Amino acid sequence: MSDCIFCKIISGEIPSHKVYEDKNVLAFLDINPINPGHTLVIPKKHSADLLEAPEETVVELIKIVKKIALAVMKATGAKGFNLGLNNGEAAGQAVTHLHFHIMPRLENDGYKLWAGKSYKEGQAKQIAEKIKNEL
Ligand code: AMP
Ligand code: ZN
Repeated sequence: MSDCIFCKIISGEIPSHKVYEDKNVLAFLDINPINPGHTLVIPKKHSADLLEAPEETVVELIKIVKKIALAVMKATGAKGFNLGLNNGEAAGQAVTHLHFHIMPRLENDGYKLWAGKSYKEGQAKQIAEKIKNEL
């Protein structure tokens, strides 16, 4: 897509610190890392998000994510990592080109992922049923 910044990174129009590239997948450093080594993994073929992407693309991408996550851990000395995917504007997706975030984590690095809520009486059963009915 011509106005997509990640497509421009793929074409080389916008510079990036690439860490991996093959025929279908590119990985590069996030410009605003939560910790050094925060890496984005994207398919070269543009899809807006996870739901729009073909299944083969997602399968190929997640295999590479696993490989790169290990390399990020080793390279940064991270003790763990969060795998992130913001799907849709409501979820904070700023760039509408499917991407996984590999976010290396160090103990006590201060990064707070989310604050959990509690279910009201009966609410969990009801939402679980509704989700099951959509599958
Ligand atoms: P998301 O909110 O999941 O869409 O995340 C988009 C991510 O892309 C953010 O973490 C940005 O820091 C990152 N980003 C935006 N522009 C660039 C760029 N030119 N190079 C590297 N990362 C970028
Ligand atoms: Zn794109």
